[in-house]
Amino acid sequence: MSSGVYLHIPFCRSRCSYCDFATDVYKNAGIVDSYVSALAREIENFPLSKAVDTIYFGGGTPSLLSPVQLEKILESIHKKFSVAADSEITMEMNPATVTPETLKAYKSLGVNRASFGAQTFDDTELKRLGRRHTAADVRETIELLREADYANVSFDLIAGLPRQTLKDWERNLDEALKLQPEHLSLYLLEIHEATPLAEQIRSGRQPLPDEELAAAMYELMLEKIVLENYRQYEISNFCQPNYESKHNSKYWTLDAVFGFGCSAHSFDGATARYANERDTAKYVSLIKEKSSAVVYREEINVESEFIFLGLRLTKGIDLDEYKKRFGIKVIEKYAADLQRLESLGLIEFAENRLRLTGKGFLFSNEVFAAFV
Ligand code: SF4
Repeated sequence: MSSGVYLHIPFCRSRCSYCDFATDVYKNAGIVDSYVSALAREIENFPLSKAVDTIYFGGGTPSLLSPVQLEKILESIHKKFSVAADSEITMEMNPATVTPETLKAYKSLGVNRASFGAQTFDDTELKRLGRRHTAADVRETIELLREADYANVSFDLIAGLPRQTLKDWERNLDEALKLQPEHLSLYLLEIHEATPLAEQIRSGRQPLPDEELAAAMYELMLEKIVLENYRQYEISNFCQPNYESKHNSKYWTLDAVFGFGCSAHSFDGATARYANERDTAKYVSLIKEKSSAVVYREEINVESEFIFLGLRLTKGIDLDEYKKRFGIKVIEKYAADLQRLESLGLIEFAENRLRLTGKGFLFSNEVFAAFV
């Protein structure tokens, strides 16, 4: 099985109110240049030389990279890894950060999948989230991508925004589906402690999102999306036939993904997860000093992760594969929990697989807790 490579590009034009990713405000191309040099050095000094078939530029806003900067990173990857000719190469982009020229240049360098954060088609909600773009920018970005011949486009929407009604969410879904992206990621808003949005909620300036309403939004999304020829393949991910994200799928099937850049996480494909320094400046210094910025490492419980990551996928887990890998039947190891979850209608056994039911997807955390 080939591995994946993840590159973290931590720069954004400004910071959105709900975001807790490792990002820095983009000040000038010079700062990005020194980051790109550190990234190239980290990749070239990586101790393994593996076969890879997915490359993912995430962030942050990778579309703030100039084509020259992108080329430098890709050159390092090609020097270090054996990259399959048909690799999926994804770049996260933000609306209003790309031009026909940059899109053409990214494509000529091998980018063949674009993923961007639309989040909502309501300008008031966008403003509330601190997003810099408008709904019109999202439509224009899709148009630019199509004109530049990008045939695999994904975008994210967020449900459960403060003050968002079920009707608002339905309008958002309709707008999204009209644009016919090949792939959609639909998330429920999560409130992270140290964000401005969390502070606005604590001080009463924004209401706490309503969990029941969020559940109704999720159900509405499932109803609408299947009518439009999209298939749910993971809790939050939907696609037209054959457009599953190959890169993200590696996380759910425990394939190796090697991360580079500040805050990038890796899994070695066997038992170890590790992560880089989160702070951009410290990351650059660490790479200059010792060509590695790994600050955290843990041995994971592969058996338990095999179950709860596999259950995120609609196809669930293969019972024979589980037995082969771990030498015991899942039904024997978790008899009581499985019986309980099955009687609650949260899981089911079908075609020699264990998977979540529709209700199970709504209460997935309850199911996962049984296996952690
Ligand atoms: S654009 Fe994305 S990564 Fe950047 S601040 Fe906003 S949510 Fe965070």
